[in-house]
Amino acid sequence: MIELPEAVVIARQINETIYGKKIKKVVAAKSPHRFAWYYEDPNKYDDLLAGKKVGDSDCFGGWIEIKIENVCLSFCEGINLGFHKKNEERPQKHQLLMEFGDLTAVSATVQMYGGIYCYRQGQFDNEYYLKAKEKPSPLSVEFDWEYFIKILSSPDIKVLSAKAFLATNQRIPGLGNGVLQDILFNAKIHPKRKVSTFTGDESKNLFDSLKSTLEKMASRGGRETEKDFFGNLGGYKTKVGKNTAGTNCRKCGEVIKKETYMGGSIYYCTGCQKL
Ligand SMILES: [Zn+2]
Repeated sequence: MIELPEAVVIARQINETIYGKKIKKVVAAKSPHRFAWYYEDPNKYDDLLAGKKVGDSDCFGGWIEIKIENVCLSFCEGINLGFHKKNEERPQKHQLLMEFGDLTAVSATVQMYGGIYCYRQGQFDNEYYLKAKEKPSPLSVEFDWEYFIKILSSPDIKVLSAKAFLATNQRIPGLGNGVLQDILFNAKIHPKRKVSTFTGDESKNLFDSLKSTLEKMASRGGRETEKDFFGNLGGYKTKVGKNTAGTNCRKCGEVIKKETYMGGSIYYCTGCQKL
């Protein structure tokens, strides 16, 4: 799943790799996928894109957006984006294949679910996209302690658990069920802890952990569970996640547990993150 750190890494790699390339041909929705989302008719993507030059790529929340003259191409959620050199084999199955004049290409494949949206600039009215775009990135200076406290003190938050606060309702775009595990571990807060029970120190720890954990993940090329634009896994080793579940915590020696909670898995240290 593309979350904030991976979006930062992939958008940068896209800029460094395909900026200025001329698009020769685009095939969208070639392999049927029930949970691949498109904007209007994917068969029209080629008409919108062919002959145009790739401009700047950007990210906000877990979204990656490539500007292509008067058109944009955006990706979100469980999309695998891959760059292919000249003569390099393209994936057999894909939901988007964009070939360039120099015979390199980009492919997008949907894992469980994900969006591949192509539209004229300003036309896209997807609610998640607009929300992600208007809110400050947790990596930006605008996302400061004051801003964090403002979201945390909103009356509807008090009844929520730490996980629900961080990862639902697009409160903090790009922060999903993946990155939240280490954010809570570093803050020593159990995912099920109610926000109303946080002490002042805990709120501050959560803010600091949110900023520093995401910064580390982004600066190390994303998490080791996710692939970048060149198919390489990220360099950030998650502390609590599928790779460490059942092992002992390196801080306190207690076991790292996996549980199902709110339609997804949570991972936490039974010693560091008491309920
Ligand atoms: Zn521990």
